[in-house]
Amino acid sequence: MTATLGAPVALTAPAPVRGTGPATLIDQFELGLDAPICLTWELTYACNLACSHCLSASGKRDPRELSTEQCKSIIDELERMQVFYVNIGGGEPTIRPDFWELVDYATEHHVGVKFSTNGVRINEKVAARLAASDYVDVQISIDGATAEVNDAVRGKGSFDMAVRALRNLRDAGFRDAKISVVMTRHNIPQLDQFKALADEYKATLRITRLRPSGRGADVWDDLHPTKEQQRELYNWLVAHGEGVLTGDSFFHLSAYGEALPGLNLCGAGRVVCLIDPLGDVYACPFAIHDKFLAGSVVRDGGFQQVWQHSELFLDLRSPQTGGACAKCSHFDSCRGGCMAAKFFTGLPLDGPDPECVQGYGEALLAGDREIPAASQDHSRTGKRKERNRSGPIPLTLSIKPPTKICDENPVSGMRPV
Ligand code: SF4
Ligand code: SF4
Repeated sequence: MTATLGAPVALTAPAPVRGTGPATLIDQFELGLDAPICLTWELTYACNLACSHCLSASGKRDPRELSTEQCKSIIDELERMQVFYVNIGGGEPTIRPDFWELVDYATEHHVGVKFSTNGVRINEKVAARLAASDYVDVQISIDGATAEVNDAVRGKGSFDMAVRALRNLRDAGFRDAKISVVMTRHNIPQLDQFKALADEYKATLRITRLRPSGRGADVWDDLHPTKEQQRELYNWLVAHGEGVLTGDSFFHLSAYGEALPGLNLCGAGRVVCLIDPLGDVYACPFAIHDKFLAGSVVRDGGFQQVWQHSELFLDLRSPQTGGACAKCSHFDSCRGGCMAAKFFTGLPLDGPDPECVQGYGEALLAGDREIPAASQDHSRTGKRKERNRSGPIPLTLSIKPPTKICDENPVSGMRPV
């Protein structure tokens, strides 16, 4: 999928769900809000690409995907909850035949749209249409500043496709598209080139952390930045980060010293959540697993009900002890790092992040741990690669023939556009 967790957008006046007396904004965030400030909605698991690190293990459309009418009723509810923006992703959301209809419906109902795409449908005509809207933002995913680095992860031809989309948007006068990059061992040396690419296309650079979720779990060992690269990234952000979006991606790096801009805490279930293509609600886009399933907008009385009353979310909003990290002198800035990164690497949720900059995660990774089995997989290439395998994982797309027709065509069963 194209990662969608964006910089937080103030959507609604923060109102604590629980607690009394005056509270700081961060206190309010920790207690949870009436509505999420960063809601990601994956419209489909179908995708024309098969990126090796896809966090939702996308590829095939799930036949149980929400219908157009069900999507519209979610938008109605978001409007009632005063969720003014939604981050739409997938899969590749634009290959849903009703994608533009849903975008129009959302903006007509006061729900702005930021969508993530690999660029496949951003031709000149679409770019002109997007440039005419004040309520739609576009994020193009690129994971290398050169075709060589990008295509090794995202597939042959994907760099050219993304750059063509950026060119079309710029030439149509679209203001401030985002270039969304998942930082890996191979592209950290390209940080300056990414910035130059963003400048060339009058876009804003947005970088996110590689999480070991979805197919990302299969390649995390080989792709996540080295210790030295983490420091390099931190230094680069301190020196050049102004105007670069990071969301909550790198707050674990704040333990190096200066806090980085963005949300400096895990917002899962507090200010962040995900609605998946079936209407299931998870605590965070990087935590698509039964363990973080809060409920269903279809079966559990709608999104508001799940967001405000699910047991999981109430638990995530309850005061946390900090566990083993509480004794760390950097806890206030790092807060033990990312819950999803810990979970999918088999580390305790109340201990250090696997990429803890003090090195505690590394020590834990070297010990006994049980990596949780994926609870879902939508890959078109069949069975996912085994974790804990020996030998390197090739970072190229599989060219195995499909076993079923729907393995070949991600939009199989959909109406033609
Ligand atoms: S689980 Fe990780 S990615 Fe998700 S909100 Fe928390 S810190 Fe961010
Ligand atoms: S020990 Fe925990 S709080 Fe300290 S830097 Fe590592 S992950 Fe962060």
